[in-house]
Amino acid sequence: MPTVFDSYDLCVPGVRALQPYQPGKPVAELEREYGVENVIKLASNESPLGPSPRAVTAAEETIRDLGRYPDGGGFLLSQALAEKHGVDPACITLGNGSSDVLDMIARVFLMPGYNAVFSEYAFAVYPISVQAAGATARVALACNGDNGPWLGHNLLAMSDLVGDHTRVVFIANPNNPTGTWLQADELKSFVSQLPNHVVVVVDEAYFEYVDKPGYPDASQWLDDYPNLVVTRTFSKAYGLAGLRVGYSLSQPAVADLLNRVRQPFNVNSVAQAAALAALEDSRHLEKAVQLNREGLRQLVTGLQALGIPFVESAGNFVTVDTGCDAAAVYENMLRKGVIVRPVANYGLPNHLRISVGLPDENERLLNIFGNVLEQVSA
Ligand SMILES: *Cc1c(COP(=O)(O)O)cnc(C)c1O
Repeated sequence: MPTVFDSYDLCVPGVRALQPYQPGKPVAELEREYGVENVIKLASNESPLGPSPRAVTAAEETIRDLGRYPDGGGFLLSQALAEKHGVDPACITLGNGSSDVLDMIARVFLMPGYNAVFSEYAFAVYPISVQAAGATARVALACNGDNGPWLGHNLLAMSDLVGDHTRVVFIANPNNPTGTWLQADELKSFVSQLPNHVVVVVDEAYFEYVDKPGYPDASQWLDDYPNLVVTRTFSKAYGLAGLRVGYSLSQPAVADLLNRVRQPFNVNSVAQAAALAALEDSRHLEKAVQLNREGLRQLVTGLQALGIPFVESAGNFVTVDTGCDAAAVYENMLRKGVIVRPVANYGLPNHLRISVGLPDENERLLNIFGNVLEQVSA
């Protein structure tokens, strides 16, 4: 018996080896710590437009009923999502953000002795959920520019890592933090050659933003692949990151299992009502997508003019190569009131991820970024 209580010694090995998820720095924190004002945050891939006003109204109306538990089954929202996607409501699993659904998938299909396959530079929630479930992560090397888009998922390398004890494959399309994406033909043939003991998760958090030719809607393939799970979220283009609503689409048998581990009231009543109203406001969504298209073009054009290399992105962000230790650039930008996202925790110490903001925010970012890079490299 231990003589003292040591939580680190007692916790399960997967958790002991974990690093917590590192979120973007909140505006209030920067103002408090650095005493700067007029802070802009282009660090968390949030929508600069925010949510639909209809979603805000729905949220406000629901607040009067906070004494009640939410609808644990999320009936109305599931119904509306099922209609939107042309599937049975039994195919929908609601999550407290899509990260919640990703975690449910890990808890349902992984345990010690099993492994999950994903790419280098893939979304940070995958390794956290896999390790917390006690399983092993098998990380495939990303493309190097010759065998596919630089930093993009290498599906061949991922296939090679799938073995008898693989239970889950995570694919972000497009991926965060790289912004790289996969084409319909390559992704579909990857999914179809996976063995029957593997669940494949296609994470489409940025789906609404993508306007690249050949980009697939993997939810269209659910009838063909009983092992396919597609995740979506209200956090990005719908502008509801603060409320935490996401969901997955799968065949009912997988959804049934996910619902067994889902916390009974994981999506709160305000979030359900706001998401439902957001779904009904397609004009607002179009506006957000259009704003992003223009903002991404503005950022990309500005970066090109500054001669700063970046990864071509299908999302609402762009990851740039600072050509030096990005931590110094990040710090300097913080002092000028601009928050971007370091991605050293992804194995990209020279890169920074910049979210698309409003036109004047993008302009300020570009001005400051140019100046800071000059200073740091001088
Ligand atoms: C932002 C993001 C998510 C979604 O996060 P939520 O939990 O829904 O807020 C999922 N996957 C990727 C790749 C993301 O970038």
